Amino acid sequence: MKKEWIAPGKTIGILGGGQLGRMMALSAREMGYRVAVLEPTPDSPCGQVSDNQVEAEYDDLEGAKKFVELCDVLTYEFENIDANTATWLEKQVYLPQGSDLLEITQNRIHEKQAIKSFQVPVVRYRALETANELQKAREALGLPAVLKTTRGGYDGKGQQVIRTNNDIAKAWKEMEGKGPFVLESWVDFDQEISVVVTRSSTGEMTTFPVAENIHVNNILHQSIVPARIPYEIEKQAIDIAKHLAESFHLIGTLAVEMFVTDDQMVYVNELAPRPHNSGHYTINACETSQFEQHIRAICGWPLGKTDLLRPAVMVNILGEHVDEVLEGLSDLPTGHVHLYGKKEARPGRKMGHITFLTDDLEKTLKEINQSPIWKLDNPEEDEA
Ligand code: AMP
Repeated sequence: MKKEWIAPGKTIGILGGGQLGRMMALSAREMGYRVAVLEPTPDSPCGQVSDNQVEAEYDDLEGAKKFVELCDVLTYEFENIDANTATWLEKQVYLPQGSDLLEITQNRIHEKQAIKSFQVPVVRYRALETANELQKAREALGLPAVLKTTRGGYDGKGQQVIRTNNDIAKAWKEMEGKGPFVLESWVDFDQEISVVVTRSSTGEMTTFPVAENIHVNNILHQSIVPARIPYEIEKQAIDIAKHLAESFHLIGTLAVEMFVTDDQMVYVNELAPRPHNSGHYTINACETSQFEQHIRAICGWPLGKTDLLRPAVMVNILGEHVDEVLEGLSDLPTGHVHLYGKKEARPGRKMGHITFLTDDLEKTLKEINQSPIWKLDNPEEDEA
């Protein structure tokens, strides 16, 4: 179903009720839209700020039918929506993003093949299914390497780092039965960066400033913007993101996560066909947020400007940080607190984030990193 202009007052249907959906819904409401969400968990972060939540599993056809009756346009907030469901939904209601990119990014091997086919570098890898093939892949790539499931992994879940030959059996024991897999060479990167690119149904395209991302235990901890990288790397990263968006005929938002090595190579690690955690800083620091831009793109509006208004550090608030952040606000630099309305604060669960705007990035980073809340003197040393 094709329908490029979605007038305010119409209903945007969001597949998935997490924080990304919530922040999309908040932008959509500001712009005059109604919002419906399909999500099995009652009172979800997105459901709390939407007009309607249909509580059903994503593969429940009856639930999906009820949902599509409410919606004029569809979007998704996470890429693990069953591709068959997405294909079915696409036939019922306009899904500007389509289901092709969803299918590709759900599968690490398809994703890497697609990126390579557009002449964009990815880390050396081998696809494999058996223990024997793991041995062969290890011989081809050398060690260290990282074994990843092709589907369903996020925040380091579904991954085993193999540093020595002794780790191979252990990694296989952990992963057996979860295949197919991909073995990737370990990249001794200098930095991890990301670019959020948006392309509208009219073909207009923007990128947000490059974020430098610090991960702790494989979970994004901080995004620092502007990224502390040379101009040539910044340009290369933006060009890669735009080239991928064009090549995939993107409509909506694509986050491109990349590794930068000391020989100034940029490799694409992963794609997310939606707004991304490393783009949360845009809400407070850019002229237009990634969420507003996404809604603009899928509803056929002209895209907003993406200029960085002030340098920013975004820090994730995980389950173990929430109470301390709220109690310790007066000891931190002034920041914009965003909480996602999740009831249970489990360790490692993304409960919110805080964005600090600053004219002195290094000073602000020092203040944040010295805070007992995140207990990191030097987060770079703690990288997974
Ligand atoms: P992913 O789920 O692929 O984004 O991986 C999560 C995190 O693990 C990345 O952000 C990196 O910090 C780390 N990582 C993943 N793959 C590699 C790799 N091939 N080399 C080095 N670090 C990696």
